[in-house]
Amino acid sequence: MMKFHLPKEAEEILAILKKAHFQAYIVGGCVRDLLLGRETNDWDFTTDATPEQIIKLFPDSFYDNKFGTVGVPIKQLSSVIYEITTFRSEFGYTDHRHPDKIIWGKTLEEDLQRRDFTINALAYDGKTLTDLYEGQQDLKNQIIRAVGEADTRFKEDALRMMRAVRIATELQFIIEEKTFSAIRNNNNLLTKISNERIRDELIKILASPFPADGIKLLRNGTLLSVILPELEKCFGVEQRSPKRHHMHDVGTHLLKSLELCPSKDPIVRLATLLHDIGKPITVNTTADGIITFYNHEIISASIVRNIAERLHFSKKDRDKLIKLVRFHQFTVDEKQTDSALRRFIRNVGTENLQDMLDLRVGDRLGGGARETSWRLELFKKRLEEVQKQPFTVSDLKVDGHDVMKIYNIGPGPLIGAILDMLFNDVVEGKLKNEREILLKRIKDLKKESKVN
Ligand code: ATP
Ligand code: MG
Repeated sequence: MMKFHLPKEAEEILAILKKAHFQAYIVGGCVRDLLLGRETNDWDFTTDATPEQIIKLFPDSFYDNKFGTVGVPIKQLSSVIYEITTFRSEFGYTDHRHPDKIIWGKTLEEDLQRRDFTINALAYDGKTLTDLYEGQQDLKNQIIRAVGEADTRFKEDALRMMRAVRIATELQFIIEEKTFSAIRNNNNLLTKISNERIRDELIKILASPFPADGIKLLRNGTLLSVILPELEKCFGVEQRSPKRHHMHDVGTHLLKSLELCPSKDPIVRLATLLHDIGKPITVNTTADGIITFYNHEIISASIVRNIAERLHFSKKDRDKLIKLVRFHQFTVDEKQTDSALRRFIRNVGTENLQDMLDLRVGDRLGGGARETSWRLELFKKRLEEVQKQPFTVSDLKVDGHDVMKIYNIGPGPLIGAILDMLFNDVVEGKLKNEREILLKRIKDLKKESKVN
């Protein structure tokens, strides 16, 4: 007898199934989390009842026939999910991902046998824990071990390799040796897995408490070269130069930047991990032995665009990744004009400024520099100042009187239209907000309008 505290809803689901004389278990990751004292948001149940029988017992439930899973809605506004799946035993994975057909199993044993890792193959019926693969032992020793023969299990479903790294990272567990070498031997099978599923696991790795450890584990497991070959290429690209501060190669610098980036947002963390990814392409050594990476932020942004498209990130995430990488090199000195700062803010987007500063802190710390510098502090101060003074048409160094004088006309809508045009050009950085320049532009506009 083993008693865990379950949410009332979970107790109810078990009770309803049992009352109808079916077997009923909580199973998988939620039992693992229960034993670890971790919070769970998805509760999975397994039973010998068929989907039709389950639906009859839970009238509001919905059936997802692709996975043979019945969802039980509990609280309308709750993010907690309760799902019941009939015992399954699957075989014949010709595409390394989907079982050719779902076969309903007759027993719990069959169902546990198809699960990925020993710590995920535990079942609990409200009283007794079923542990056929020494999952509790592995949980105690903090080990991820495949159920059965690792090599076969990864050949059946290559996504399990990403899951192993992801779960190891989330729980800070070790991947058992045979399981790990099976990952290294089958890394190429990951190409059979949809990019969306790889992206989802990657995001979970990045959202975990130690994302850089997860990326290192992907690398050691040789999965990184399959999912992010552009990043793998950064390792060994030296950037040490006489008198320059960089002490790590590009790949190591990127890992360190990720590790030290203060943001918890997986998208900001990914941008930080990829911010110098164009360096291997732009690397050059000058006559006096200085290593340079001119325009690497432009190349990096274009590589990041490819990666974000390949992994099917949403348009919003994609745009953010690209902007953070494209403009990460922007710095200020005393001479920087307000309009240059405004252009930077417009390029990055006010909503991304804090994230950009977080990337910069990661970049600095990851390069062995102090967290901040007079320059970064000045940058923050200027950004704040510039945002406090919104720039409007009335801030232009010319006004309606200038336009009327040059055009030799009286007040009217044309005056406002011309000022708006100048304002847009200034905001976009095409024109400087300087009186002589703007007056000349008004004269040119007048000439152009005569020609037309
Ligand atoms: P999480 O904490 O992210 O929910 P989880 O282990 O619960 O982790 P789920 O995707 O919720 O992962 O899957 C629930 C359970 O289903 C797993 O614990 C495992 O038993 C089983 N499972 C999921 N994916 C696979 C797979 N690809 N191969 C075998 N078993 C799997
Ligand atoms: Mg789960």
